[in-house]
Amino acid sequence: MDRHAHQLARPVKAAIVGGGWAGIAAAVSLADAGHDITVFEMAPQAGGRARSVAGDPDYDNGQHILIGAYRDSLALMRRLDVSPEAVLERLPLALPYPGEAGLRLPPGPPLVAFTRGVLAHRGWPLAARLRLLAAAGGWLARGFRCDASLSVAQLCAGLPAAVKRDLVEPLCVAALNTPAPQASAQVFLRVLKDALFSGPGSADLLLPRRPLSELLARPAAAWLGERLRTGRRVQCIEPGWRVDGEPFDAVVLACTSVEAARLTAGIAPGWAALARALAFQPIVTVYLHSPGSALPQPMLALREGPDSPAQFVFDHGALGGAPGRFAFVVSGAAPWVERGDCAQAVLAQARRELAWATPPVIERMLTEKRATFACTPGLVRPPGRIAPGLWAAGDYVEGPYPATLEGAVRAGLAAAQGVGGGSGAKGAASGSPTNTPCAGQATLCQ
Ligand SMILES: Cc1cc2nc3c(=O)[nH]c(=O)nc-3n(C[C@H](O)[C@H](O)[C@H](O)COP(=O)(O)OP(=O)(O)OC[C@H]3O[C@@H](n4cnc5c(N)ncnc54)[C@H](O)[C@@H]3O)c2cc1C
Repeated sequence: MDRHAHQLARPVKAAIVGGGWAGIAAAVSLADAGHDITVFEMAPQAGGRARSVAGDPDYDNGQHILIGAYRDSLALMRRLDVSPEAVLERLPLALPYPGEAGLRLPPGPPLVAFTRGVLAHRGWPLAARLRLLAAAGGWLARGFRCDASLSVAQLCAGLPAAVKRDLVEPLCVAALNTPAPQASAQVFLRVLKDALFSGPGSADLLLPRRPLSELLARPAAAWLGERLRTGRRVQCIEPGWRVDGEPFDAVVLACTSVEAARLTAGIAPGWAALARALAFQPIVTVYLHSPGSALPQPMLALREGPDSPAQFVFDHGALGGAPGRFAFVVSGAAPWVERGDCAQAVLAQARRELAWATPPVIERMLTEKRATFACTPGLVRPPGRIAPGLWAAGDYVEGPYPATLEGAVRAGLAAAQGVGGGSGAKGAASGSPTNTPCAGQATLCQ
């Protein structure tokens, strides 16, 4: 990010409501462009959904993975003097299962690496590998675009069952947090395109080696200093603009979609209705402890099933964290949250599928009921621009990505650009000013 790229003639006094990754991106970008910013964050700390657990920084709010294609997130970390090389373990894309090598991309240009990786996959018959390559070639030829009404399951209906089970379904639920039959094929293809075809290393997995808050939230809080006001839940936005009565030239709503809908209900009812209509998918992270145990790789894929909730497991001991701690991730977890026995089912799955030096025990279960919006086919998401001087930033804002750190950061950069020339918004995911719902002048303070 070039911090001097967009110096403005007139500095703007801007409020950013929410100190997650989107709010941090907007704040840093606006401040770098010379604007006077204040970040309001209702929690005691910044970071939003991507942070360590308050009061127990040894645990993350949920296991996170970045990929090499997260260009703007990595640039933002560097801007805050965080070295991605130091805090993230970079691994070539691989989906090993317990006792199976799985798909592994060798080094090299992404297209060649993908082809070689698929051809070398010993677990699939040759015909299945060729069918996958043919399908991927078709997606490439069509520019990774498809009918917006298609689900991932429909897009991949012709693929062999083993390819769907070992590759499509885990990738889909990991990236979109939505099971393949309900997930948007268009967004899935966009993720594949950016992962596989946006330059060397773009498909690499970047696994945190430090508590999640150290990746961005804590350095951002130090950088912002008194410009970050924690423990401040914004109650009311009034046109003009006023944030709980305090005057600003512009406001970036970088809070959750639910809160943004509440704050804009009287100002921009059309926009608020779009934000309110988003449905959510939970993610459950179950931490198991087993002293002396280690996985053969820092991350393994697992086969989800009626008695097997988790799709991935991470060995924190191998990632610079507590030895003997394992994070099991259950994405698209709605059925398991409903059943109420997720932690016990993960424990049973872990005992069945992995070898342990000592019997694993449940250490902690974290459930984020609104982890991400449900990324369904044809979903209409609210645009970044709400009204003149009022922007939304967040992983849910209109854009090509599912709810991810990179989507949040890009939406933050786009909002900063919209407010008045924040630095480094190129490639922004959202913020089309052409798609703006009417903004009224009413005020609603709840
Ligand atoms: C368990 C889990 C696992 C995930 N795994 C991954 C992953 O592996 N890779 C990936 O890329 N993404 C992952 N995600 C998604 C990622 O965490 C989010 O996309 C991203 O953090 C969203 O950032 P945000 O800034 O848009 O929103 P948030 O992080 O939700 O930030 C919004 C902020 O606004 C604050 N706020 C809300 N209302 C108000 C108010 N009225 N006044 C003041 N402040 C307010 C909130 O406290 C919060 O800090 C995961 C999410 C979860 C929950």
